[in-house]
Amino acid sequence: MSGERLTVALPMTGQCLCGAVQYESSGEPVFALLCHCRDCQRQSGGAYTAGLRVPAASFRVTKGEPKDYTKTADSGNRITRAFCSECGCMLFLRVSARPDLVAIRVGTLDDPSWFRPAADIFVQSAQPWDHMNPDIPKYQTYPPGQDYEPRL
Ligand SMILES: [Zn+2]
Ligand SMILES: [Zn+2]
Repeated sequence: MSGERLTVALPMTGQCLCGAVQYESSGEPVFALLCHCRDCQRQSGGAYTAGLRVPAASFRVTKGEPKDYTKTADSGNRITRAFCSECGCMLFLRVSARPDLVAIRVGTLDDPSWFRPAADIFVQSAQPWDHMNPDIPKYQTYPPGQDYEPRL
């Protein structure tokens, strides 16, 4: 993690709007971001989404069975979003090139208060009415080293 170190009690837990799907993550977060891409805007209905990448090996769904929706992003990555088929809430996503990572939607955590974004990403498609924190680094797409290319 670059920048400010996150202090979070592990495991962290979260759930969808209705509670039918719940998850748990016991690994140290690897990247905290705000994504301003068009897919995140459409999916969330807002100007950006808050994401937290965690190790997939220590992430698990503890209740229910989320439904997957897969879409190819502008980057060419196949992104699978997991959401509750009952309430429609999106909880997390996986990227085909990086099966070692899961990106949690921060607002679905039971305690999202400790989250501190390390970067604004995909600001190339940020909305003019989206007022970003000037103290956080901005990247047109992914920051160096944080793209979804497979790690060898
Ligand atoms: Zn639900
Ligand atoms: Zn995005």
